[in-house]
Amino acid sequence: MRVFDHVVDLVGDTPLVALTPTLEQTRAPLLGKVEYLSPGGSVKDRVALAMVAAAEESGALRPGGTIIEPTSGNTGVGLALVAARRGYSCVFTMPDKISEEKRSVLRAYGAQVVICPTAVAPDDPRSYYQVARRLVRETPDGWSPDQYSNPHNPAAHEATTGPEIWRDTDGRITHFVAGIGTGGTISGVGRYLKGVSDGAVQIVGADPQGSVYSGGTGRPYLVEGVGEDIWPATYDRTVVDRVEAVSDRESFLMTRELARRCGLLLGGSGGLAVVAGLRVARELGPDGLVVVLLPDSGRGYLSKIFNDDWMYEYGFLEPPQTGPTVADAL
Ligand code: PMP
Repeated sequence: MRVFDHVVDLVGDTPLVALTPTLEQTRAPLLGKVEYLSPGGSVKDRVALAMVAAAEESGALRPGGTIIEPTSGNTGVGLALVAARRGYSCVFTMPDKISEEKRSVLRAYGAQVVICPTAVAPDDPRSYYQVARRLVRETPDGWSPDQYSNPHNPAAHEATTGPEIWRDTDGRITHFVAGIGTGGTISGVGRYLKGVSDGAVQIVGADPQGSVYSGGTGRPYLVEGVGEDIWPATYDRTVVDRVEAVSDRESFLMTRELARRCGLLLGGSGGLAVVAGLRVARELGPDGLVVVLLPDSGRGYLSKIFNDDWMYEYGFLEPPQTGPTVADAL
C-alpha cells in the first residue's frame, strides 16, 4: 500500500508545468513551479515546517508549546498544519480588515485568531504586531517564528525548492523568476542555483510597482503577499541579478488568463511572476530555460481578481457596453 502517515509528509516536491506555448510562443520555454499543490495550498508550508523543526531542535519550542505569529495568510495555514501534526497550539493575530474567509480558514485548522484594530500605528500596543509580542511574553512556552527575520525561511528554499528545480530541469535552467515578499523564496532558491551552476543561473525578482525592491517608496498596490515598504533581513540582495516591476493591472489580467488558458487557478502574485517570466523568456533563444515560482491558489481571491465587478471598480477591466434591451424596444 502507498500511504502517508500525515498530510504534512506531502509538503514540497511540487511539479513543473509548461506555460509556453499555451500562453505564448517563445523560443525559450517558460515553466511554472506549482506550489498550490502543497497540502496547505502554498509555498509557505515548506517554510513553516523548517522553522518549527529548527525551533524544536534549538529548544525554543517545547512539547505542548504555543506558536504565536502576526499573520493572516499562507504562513498561518502552514504553521497550523505543522502544529496539528506535532501537538502545538497556534494563536494568530491579524488586523480587522482581513476578510471573514481568511479568519475562518485558520480557525478551521484549529488555530485561535485574535482580531486587532487596523487603524493604529504598528508600534501602538493594540496593533496586531504588538499584541503578538505581548502574547509571546505572557504565554508559557510561547514561541514566535518571525518569518521576516528567521534564517530558516530562506534556508527551507535552499534545502528543498532550489534542488527540486535543478533536478527536474536536469540542470538546464538558465533563469529563475519569483515574487519577493519576505524574500525567503528568491534568496534561498537563488543561493542554491547560483552555487550549483557556478553563478550561471540568473535570478530575477518580480515586484509590484511601488514596492521598495524595484525602487519604489511603498506606494500602495493590490497584489497580495509580495512587495514591501521595508527591507526584511530574510532578503539577500546579493543573489538577485535583476528586479522587474509589474503593475496590478498586468498581474491580475495575467492571473485570469492563466486560469482560462492553462487551467492554473493562481493568486495574483503568481500572475505577477508570470508577467516578469514572460518578459525574460521573450529575450532568450532556444538555449534559455525559465522557471517561475507560482506561490498559491486563486481560491483565496475569488471575490477580488476573479470577480468582474471588483475588476471594473478598480479599472482593470472595461465594463461591457449595455446596448438597447428587449424592454427598451417594447
Ligand atoms: N506570494 C504569496 C501569495 C505569498 O503569501 C508570499 C509570502 N509572503 C509570497 C508570494 C512571497 O514569498 P516570500 O515571502 O518567500 O518572498
